[in-house]
Amino acid sequence: MNTRTDEKTKALQEKIRELAARKDAVILAHNYQSPEVQDVADFTGDSLALSRLAADSSAGTIIFAGVHFMAETAKILSPQKRVLIPDATAGCSLADCINADQLRAWKAEHPGAVVVSYANTTAEVKAETDICCTSANAVDVVNSIPADQEVLFCPDRNLAAHVKRVTGRENLVIWDGACHVHAEMTPEILMDRILAEPEAEVYIHPECGGTQAAVDLIEEGKLDKDKVKILSTGGMIVEARKAPAGTRVLMATEVGMLHALRKANPDATFEPLKADAKCPFMNQTTLDNLVTCLETGKDEVFVDPEIIEKARASVERMISIGKTAQPLKH
Ligand code: SF4
Repeated sequence: MNTRTDEKTKALQEKIRELAARKDAVILAHNYQSPEVQDVADFTGDSLALSRLAADSSAGTIIFAGVHFMAETAKILSPQKRVLIPDATAGCSLADCINADQLRAWKAEHPGAVVVSYANTTAEVKAETDICCTSANAVDVVNSIPADQEVLFCPDRNLAAHVKRVTGRENLVIWDGACHVHAEMTPEILMDRILAEPEAEVYIHPECGGTQAAVDLIEEGKLDKDKVKILSTGGMIVEARKAPAGTRVLMATEVGMLHALRKANPDATFEPLKADAKCPFMNQTTLDNLVTCLETGKDEVFVDPEIIEKARASVERMISIGKTAQPLKH
């Protein structure tokens, strides 16, 4: 149980802001962070949008309130800067689904294929990747590849299936990985609630296990395609801003996203489709370890310069193709 009072939270947040100013640090918080961490950050958004913004920032130190691959991505785009993460053990079940050796072996089985990796991968995997992508631009990235060229898409099978469906790309080969938080948002869990509340709008992140079932029901005419939308986290914010006052929205992604949506549109109501969809890794960041991170400079994130160079090329290819979500400034 969280017994911290509002006054203590506010005092810690003030301390963090004062330390960040003194240490020339910019604080980035992923959309899945706790509300109190999001509120103390300079920017909130998805991992790539935040990393691009950190690269443009004049601050010498980047604090990434998120999981380890995100801090690595910030380092890839800002190798000359010091990148810190409040808890270096904060991992990601999706990024853990494929390592560089596995990707090399997969590539060897598919000579000539183009590798597209989701941002939720380690720096080593990005270094073995041709083009990186986010959930916002994965379709554009795959569409940029000549139609006769095979595509290896990793590591998320649900996002990959969504991209395959939208692009109609038969030669897209899917790695069998998933985020455990999103995979648990199964067809049954999503559909029971959606069908019980037909008047509500629905935002579904394509990593969710129930994405395909929602699309099937839309195609069968059992769900209203204008109400049920498959969206990246950045896309959800854009959609939330457009929702008329009084709109009720059911959302399927990590529950930290609710804070960003409610801030984006205080006149609409946002509810989770699965209230316990909480990422344990994201929640390893707290105000207390943010203070420690700023005071001690731990944990610093290092990436081999050779890996940085190769990984950066895959991210830059993505940037030259498509859009990334816009982070929010606080
Ligand atoms: S929500 Fe899933 S994909 Fe995101 S950091 Fe947590 S485990 Fe990884």
